[in-house]
Amino acid sequence: MTRAVHYRDRNAFLQDRAPGSFWISGPEEKGDQSFLFFCPCGCGDKSVLNIGNGFKPKHGPSWCWNGSTAAPELAPSVNWQGHWHGWLQAGVWRSC
Ligand SMILES: [Zn+2]
Repeated sequence: MTRAVHYRDRNAFLQDRAPGSFWISGPEEKGDQSFLFFCPCGCGDKSVLNIGNGFKPKHGPSWCWNGSTAAPELAPSVNWQGHWHGWLQAGVWRSC
C-alpha cells in the first residue's frame, strides 16, 4: 500500500520522485487531463495516464478520475504491463 501524494508544483514533483506521487495537467479543450505519477512500487519509473474529471475520455486507453487530489481514485485499475497492477482508491495505491 502506497499513499498517493499530490504535487501542485511540477518541478518539485519531478525532483522528489516520490513513489506513488502524482501531478495533473490541464484540462485541455476536450476536458482531457494528463495524470503523471511515479510507480507505487518504488522503482523510480514515471508514467502518464489520460484522464477525465468525472468521466472516462473516449479515446483510450483512459481513466475516469474522481476529481479529488486529497483522496484520488482512478477507474479502471492501472495495469503497468508486466510490472505493476493495482487500483488507486481513496488516495492509496493497492496492488492486486
Ligand atoms: Zn515500479
